[in-house]
Amino acid sequence: MTTVAIRLPVAFASADAGEWPRPRAFPRAETLERALDVLPGVGPSVKRKLERLGLTIVGDLVNYAPRDYLRPLGETPIAHLRVEEEAAIAGVVRSASLRKARRRLTIFKAIVEDESGGVTATWFNQPWLEGKLTAGTHVRLRGVLRRGEFQVKSYDIGDAEATADFAPVYPASEEITAKRLRELVGAALPPALADPLPAALKQGEALPQRGDALWALHRPRSLAEAETGRRRLAFDELLALQVGIARRRRERESEIAPALALPGELVLRYREVLPFRLTEHQERAIAEIDVDLQSTVPMQRLLQGDVGSGKTVVALYALLRAVEVGRQGALMAPTETLAEQHFLTLEEPCRALGVSCALLTSSSPKRERDLAPHADVVVGTHALIQEGVQLRDLAVAVVDEQHRFGVEQRKALAEGRSPHVLHMTATPIPRTLALTVYGDLAVSEIAKPPANRKPIKTAWVTEERSAAAYSRLRKHLDAGRQAYVVCPLIEESETSQARAAEAEAERLRRAELRGYRVGLLHGRLRPVERRELMARFKARELDVLVATTVIEVGVDVPNATIMIVQEADRFGLAQLHQLRGRVGRGAEQSYCLLISRAREDLTDSAVARLEALVRTTDGFELAEVDLDIRGGGQLLGTRQSGLTDLHFAHLRKDRVLLERARAVADELVDTGGPLMDEVERIFEGRDLAAG
Ligand code: ADP
Ligand code: MG
Repeated sequence: MTTVAIRLPVAFASADAGEWPRPRAFPRAETLERALDVLPGVGPSVKRKLERLGLTIVGDLVNYAPRDYLRPLGETPIAHLRVEEEAAIAGVVRSASLRKARRRLTIFKAIVEDESGGVTATWFNQPWLEGKLTAGTHVRLRGVLRRGEFQVKSYDIGDAEATADFAPVYPASEEITAKRLRELVGAALPPALADPLPAALKQGEALPQRGDALWALHRPRSLAEAETGRRRLAFDELLALQVGIARRRRERESEIAPALALPGELVLRYREVLPFRLTEHQERAIAEIDVDLQSTVPMQRLLQGDVGSGKTVVALYALLRAVEVGRQGALMAPTETLAEQHFLTLEEPCRALGVSCALLTSSSPKRERDLAPHADVVVGTHALIQEGVQLRDLAVAVVDEQHRFGVEQRKALAEGRSPHVLHMTATPIPRTLALTVYGDLAVSEIAKPPANRKPIKTAWVTEERSAAAYSRLRKHLDAGRQAYVVCPLIEESETSQARAAEAEAERLRRAELRGYRVGLLHGRLRPVERRELMARFKARELDVLVATTVIEVGVDVPNATIMIVQEADRFGLAQLHQLRGRVGRGAEQSYCLLISRAREDLTDSAVARLEALVRTTDGFELAEVDLDIRGGGQLLGTRQSGLTDLHFAHLRKDRVLLERARAVADELVDTGGPLMDEVERIFEGRDLAAG
């Protein structure tokens, strides 16, 4: 195997090439903080190009993770080269010439020979090679034999570097080549680095020195070595993240919330009022909540579960725990529709229990706004936390779909008071991600819906078969069931979305749904109109609800057993899963028909999304698929999550590592030192915690 020549910055050029450098002198920390033009060959123009890749200081280059490595090839004698097979050759330039083929194309050709024979090597658009690769130059080339010539992908003069086995390939740009980046990273790499991790910890976790890890990442001799390096660097990142989260948790633990002792008579009656038995998953979540509520440390718990899995039932339990000690519970939802839906759901059991329940949104009339803050249970939008609203005595707050709220809004709810907080989400995220993003939250999961439900059957049909889909839908209607038709998603304003939905509803009324009672639900309806429409649908005065994505959450009509989603390929996976959750809410078998363009016209990820939906109804499994398709950062779309700053860690691949980092972070949180400095740096100016 070829040894990889290690290129050192001039100042440190004494280490032996080919050996892992041993830490002798640590470069001063500031070295990595310096602007890139301290590196040889970086002037203002290169500096600007690097900036466009997000690289501004020396440390950025050091942390610039290769996206791949060159395959190991060994060297092939020129006479043994095979057509279209990638190979490395080494030889001497016999003659060379530069030719201008077309206006924007120059071809540099060199005849290269080794002991076995010779070949014409070609380079495109690199006219500067003319003065460089002159007769007699020893070269090493990587490329492919094509039409009798060796087309060069990378070359070295002298030692193997760009052509080396496992040479790193960096995310490059049009403006700056992978080769140049490789050189720059080489120049930026310090021979040794101070290592913030305690030695015992490194040993325990089988992690190399950080300096070695960086060298292994950028100059590996095998893929295994590169992976060992990456793993260490990923651990550092995850650890810093987790230490930051652990600190937040500590801070929060110094706040005081009302301890609620043991469940009392009111929640006992609540269980009796419910027309069903709680599932094992609901019981477990409730038990976890009960433990939290006994403490004076404010609860911060995330309740994850699919739509219809029975979270709201659990949420009301938590609210009633506050009410039974004479305090208040509040539920905050991200939209008026949702708040109203929740209110309708909670009102009935509350009434049966003699508990007052009020709705408070920005469209509530003045009188209601004045009275609502005194109710036992207050349901609302962020109007709940707006100025002038003084809740009487909040002890438990439930925040629904909390990732939709800004951090600020969530904070404001707890402002000046420290209630116990239960965050609910119907967009379950893989536990790994929950631990990373909401790492200071405890997590409860309702992984299975109530047993009386049959999993929704989902089919994916292409447009030319949409007539069959609608005749299926009409069969349901004729059997006394109800249906949803979801309009195509348009990426414009809510107004144009509403207008398009109106047109589509009109069209359907005249075509596929002629003779049926069709209602239209979109985001431009006034709250009263929406409420009225929903009430009519629920009362079976309408057969079909044509809707935009506003039905995504909060609508609960068990008699609706079939849904058609038009142009389903345009929706996100989580969104489709949410939409689908509107059916399958009763004991009847329900169906979801996803209509899309022909398979050939779809992107790979659209196909992957639709196939996943057909395959499973498990929201947690779908979340994993989504994570696969989209990666961690985008899954939540939260910029403040810090996920966008992970260079080395892969949330899926590094699950075990993340768990380790979390455990270690809990132990380390009180120590100071270099690790903490790093945490400070990573968290500088960022608000990560939920709550
Ligand atoms: P989520 O809030 O998770 O979407 P909900 O709490 O609104 O779910 O419950 C969805 C539906 O299932 C509601 O109609 C509710 O009454 C019903 N439900 C909840 N828990 C159970 C249970 N344990 N057994 C039967 N039905 C249940
Ligand atoms: Mg609900």
